[in-house]
Amino acid sequence: MNIASVIVDVPAKQTDKPFDYKIPEGLKGAVLPGMRVIVPFGPRKIQGFVVEIKKESDFQKLRQISELLDLVPVLNEELLTLGEWLTDFTLCYKISAFQAMLPAALKAKYEKKIVLSEKTNKASLPGPLQLFFSKSMSSTWEAAQTEGLVPLLQKEAAKGTVEVIYEVKERVKKKRLKHVSPAIPKEELAAVIETLSAQAKGQKAVLDFFIDNPEPIELRQIVAALGTSASTIKALVKKEWLVEQDLEVYRDPFEAKSFEKKEFLQLTEEQEKAIGPILGSIEAEKQGVFLLYGVTGSGKTEIYLQSIQRVLEKGEEAIVLVPEIALTPQMVTRFKERFGDLVAVLHSGLSAGEKYDEWRKIQRQEVKVVVGARSAVFAPFKNIGIIIIDEEHETSYKQEENPRYHARDAAIQRSLHHRCPVVLGSATPSLESFARAQKGLYTLLTLSKRMNDRDLPAVDIVDMREELRSGNRSMFSIKLFEKLKDRIDKGEQSVLFLNKRGHSSFVMCRDCGFVMNCPNCDITLTYHRSNEEMKCHYCGHEDKVPKTCPECTSEHIRYFGTGTQKVEEELARLLPEARVVRMDVDTTGRKGAHEKLLTVFQEGQADILLGTQMIAKGLDFPNVTLVGVLSADTMLHLPDFRSSEKTFQLLTQVSGRAGRHELEGEVVIQTYSPEHYSVELSASQDYNIFYQREMMIRKLHQYPPFYYLSLVTVSHEELMKVVSITEKITSYIQSRLTNAAVVLGPVASPIPRINNRYRYQCLIKYKREPELHEALKTVLDRYQQETASGGLQISVDLNPYILM
Ligand code: ADP
Ligand code: ZN
Ligand code: ZN
Repeated sequence: MNIASVIVDVPAKQTDKPFDYKIPEGLKGAVLPGMRVIVPFGPRKIQGFVVEIKKESDFQKLRQISELLDLVPVLNEELLTLGEWLTDFTLCYKISAFQAMLPAALKAKYEKKIVLSEKTNKASLPGPLQLFFSKSMSSTWEAAQTEGLVPLLQKEAAKGTVEVIYEVKERVKKKRLKHVSPAIPKEELAAVIETLSAQAKGQKAVLDFFIDNPEPIELRQIVAALGTSASTIKALVKKEWLVEQDLEVYRDPFEAKSFEKKEFLQLTEEQEKAIGPILGSIEAEKQGVFLLYGVTGSGKTEIYLQSIQRVLEKGEEAIVLVPEIALTPQMVTRFKERFGDLVAVLHSGLSAGEKYDEWRKIQRQEVKVVVGARSAVFAPFKNIGIIIIDEEHETSYKQEENPRYHARDAAIQRSLHHRCPVVLGSATPSLESFARAQKGLYTLLTLSKRMNDRDLPAVDIVDMREELRSGNRSMFSIKLFEKLKDRIDKGEQSVLFLNKRGHSSFVMCRDCGFVMNCPNCDITLTYHRSNEEMKCHYCGHEDKVPKTCPECTSEHIRYFGTGTQKVEEELARLLPEARVVRMDVDTTGRKGAHEKLLTVFQEGQADILLGTQMIAKGLDFPNVTLVGVLSADTMLHLPDFRSSEKTFQLLTQVSGRAGRHELEGEVVIQTYSPEHYSVELSASQDYNIFYQREMMIRKLHQYPPFYYLSLVTVSHEELMKVVSITEKITSYIQSRLTNAAVVLGPVASPIPRINNRYRYQCLIKYKREPELHEALKTVLDRYQQETASGGLQISVDLNPYILM
């Protein structure tokens, strides 16, 4: 067994297969599948993954592995197999699949050290290792290799006495945060409290706290814990009773807080009924997919928590996926409160080093639950007992670069191996999932009531056409404006939601709300300013921009769109007394900015939170009693067959933000299309009727879930080249498919040019085309040379979620 098959880090067709290498004498028995190695490849040395160890090779002259990078495999056998599946399923290269499953820190070169675990007694180690560690608790990996100690170290690693650490060089320095502690002894604190006036309740409470807790505490924490404000603390610092200092905090922002242990709630009858089949699947170790359909606040998370509890009792592990933007501290807190240190958190806000830390906790089996965004589905657990995908309809579960996988598919694939349940939770399931549940492929579990029978907020749909007719040209309707004013007078808070203006734009009649659609595809025509034309980006249909509205002959027909900044300016003009927090890509770019802005709002230092998509989910503010949607139309008219579904989901989500607590909530939705079913039905939160209406339309126009879609996008700097290659690809694909398939294109993409590269596409609709997969592979292979050189780009997306 001295030959290793290695997938090398060269993403290309010719290298998308294992190459055999000899294992050097000193590493015999130490090299295992799933470990990374450095191998000679041509004139270079590159990294690769060992996928197999074998006795013989079909090749005569083999080169040797130059270096072993791991003591323990970074990919276990299940993940190696999953990588094969991913390669096949998404048409990506094996190396891309493997790398997608690992934290970034493992992809690059970082300094590597071998360290003794804390509890290890040096004297218990074999002689050579005692020498190796004689000078310190750690040594370099290079030394281990040159001294031929890898096999010995590996045995120790299996016992847990030593481990390999990657020293990720942090670009950002260690995090320092404001802390406060008492400046005077506790007897004096007590004396000082006596001198304060009766009104200074807040100051008294703070000083009281420090009598029992003299240790420095993070400013944010004490503010939150005592419900006080930063200015109260500042006042005490000024009087020199407290001191403020910057202290270093642990890398994981969530780790710093201590969580009060929360007990499990007694489930309601409805929850009991819903959790039954999930627990049954866990007990019987039977794979199954469950769609947990329940409005916001109906107790889904409690079901997740109690299912996980059962999994942990069985000694198994749990993966919880949450959309990136909903991965808020509030969400994480709920898991930490129940499972404490057994929880690891993975999200994009962490640095490479922090992510690697969390991943390592999982790999070393120190944690049992991971809460994370999409890629957490690859968490290297060995005994998965449940995989939960919250807000399963979110499109961020689909990765938009190679490998173009959907977390749901990866989760189901893993659940087959682990024979465990997958729970998909949503208040507005994706049409695909709900249809599968209707067909019995998934088990549908329903929570129809909100907890404590709290009412859904009252929703007002305001017809912006009427506003215009009555002479109001502002972006605020009279109703929304008055309600905003009323909230400010009462000291309550409001959230204003503006859908991000898409890359593409459309033309709408302000008088009647008319929007031009493609007669063939039922999607919105995209406006091209350069030639004043309207174009369908599915089939290529073109139209002139009308001078007057074809519906009502009004001349108020034109391009539509507003940015958050403009809204902020208008707010400042109309409601100068309002304190506004704006959250969009511009204001939240910096690390931590997102959380900071939310804290400002949460602490009541602002009256209005104005933002895009990112404020729609997961947030829970007790003092918010008004939610306003400035224009439901921008999403409704995206050139995407899912635009109605997305609008319904978004409006339903946004409405769920109001009145979650004691105070009653109200929602105002402004639109030029009040009669559109996705607007109307989101007001009554009637998913079932929406589902039926939308399914009819999908069937009629041959869209998912009735048909599958695949999208081929071609880009190049030369327009002629893009067009001719897309043409060739389109006709080739057509020739390999049956008459039942619909091949649309070639046509310019909705975003026709990015970075000076022209973009064309071909969209395929089909039900069953056994040859399609091969045909697409052939296309990628055929142009391999030109794409490898970077001039040409071809991307194939099976089940695309972004059709731009
Ligand atoms: P969802 O995940 O569907 O939005 P949650 O699980 O967050 O719903 O539940 C909404 C609220 O109801 C939370 O504050 C939660 O603590 C509470 N809750 C959930 N289940 C119960 C229960 N069985 N008894 C009492 N309160 C509950
Ligand atoms: Zn009109
Ligand atoms: Zn069309």
